[in-house]
Amino acid sequence: MLGSTSAGMRKGVSKIHGLESIKSSKMVYLQPDVLTPSRKDVLVMTPWLAPIIWEGTFNSAILNEQFWRQNTTIGLTVFSVKSYVIFLKQFLLSAEMYFMVGHRVNYYIFTDRPDYVPHINIQKGRQIIILTVRSYARWEDISMHRMEVISNFSQQRFHREVDYLVCVDVDMKFSDHVGVEILSPLFGTLHPGYCGLSRTDFPYERRPQSQAHIPEDEGDFYYTGAFFGGSVAEVYSLTKACHDAMMFDRVNHIKATRQGESHLNKYLLYHKPFKVLSPEYLWNHNMLQNTWDQQVVNLSSNIKCFRFVTME
Ligand code: UDP
Ligand code: MN
Repeated sequence: MLGSTSAGMRKGVSKIHGLESIKSSKMVYLQPDVLTPSRKDVLVMTPWLAPIIWEGTFNSAILNEQFWRQNTTIGLTVFSVKSYVIFLKQFLLSAEMYFMVGHRVNYYIFTDRPDYVPHINIQKGRQIIILTVRSYARWEDISMHRMEVISNFSQQRFHREVDYLVCVDVDMKFSDHVGVEILSPLFGTLHPGYCGLSRTDFPYERRPQSQAHIPEDEGDFYYTGAFFGGSVAEVYSLTKACHDAMMFDRVNHIKATRQGESHLNKYLLYHKPFKVLSPEYLWNHNMLQNTWDQQVVNLSSNIKCFRFVTME
């Protein structure tokens, strides 16, 4: 069983790695100019040469063509447990407007209340798949168990059904185009609240007893737990590693300061992502009312997703 699973996953990866050899047909677009930077105000490349995806740095027409030629299918995973079902309608309606428009999409909705999933009209080539999961009494257990569920489903079925997984919070709304420019074998998203801060100010887990521990002199960025993804094989590795680390911590009676997000940050420090999404991809509603850091707020002109204030 495990053998056939990993063979299936490898097939997905080789397909993805074949991207470079895809032949394009004639297309007319603005010539890239070696002497004109696409963005002057922000870092567009990490030191390990992964692009940081900002509006203005990519051409959707070229990218769409490449991913269409591979017949790419994208899985969007979202958890909507207990009272969070109320977010689903606006989440799905906004995803239909802005998420991977023109591509094949499977929405995987994990919920304990399948009857509450709203019926909405879905475009051709897209489908909603409702997967029933158990509920936990505590908010943090629901949030933490997402890693376990995603890793199990990646192994059991996602590798047969989709090429990429995009894993997001449900308490958000797409407000502009989010397309194939985000896709790569492994990607994370910069948390808007910690942009431009020193690594010593990131809310990483600092206690060496935790598996999520990151020392003060390490760290690239602070990634949000609310938006990450990659190929099914890479998302499987990530979610499995984070879940195993959380179980290890539990045995040692320690819980990382930001739970899953702390473990995600540890994983992405030692497994460098192939693309990094700028905070344009997940802005916090609160930050727009906030003028404490004008430089960060100035970056908010191309917001693609709003994240709402957490419900209790
Ligand atoms: N979640 C859920 N039901 C809950 C708590 C959490 O479905 O009772 C899911 C939901 O997808 C939510 C995510 O877990 O978006 C993370 O929780 P939350 O958004 O409250 O965390 P925060 O954004 O504050 O990190
Ligand atoms: Mn959230």
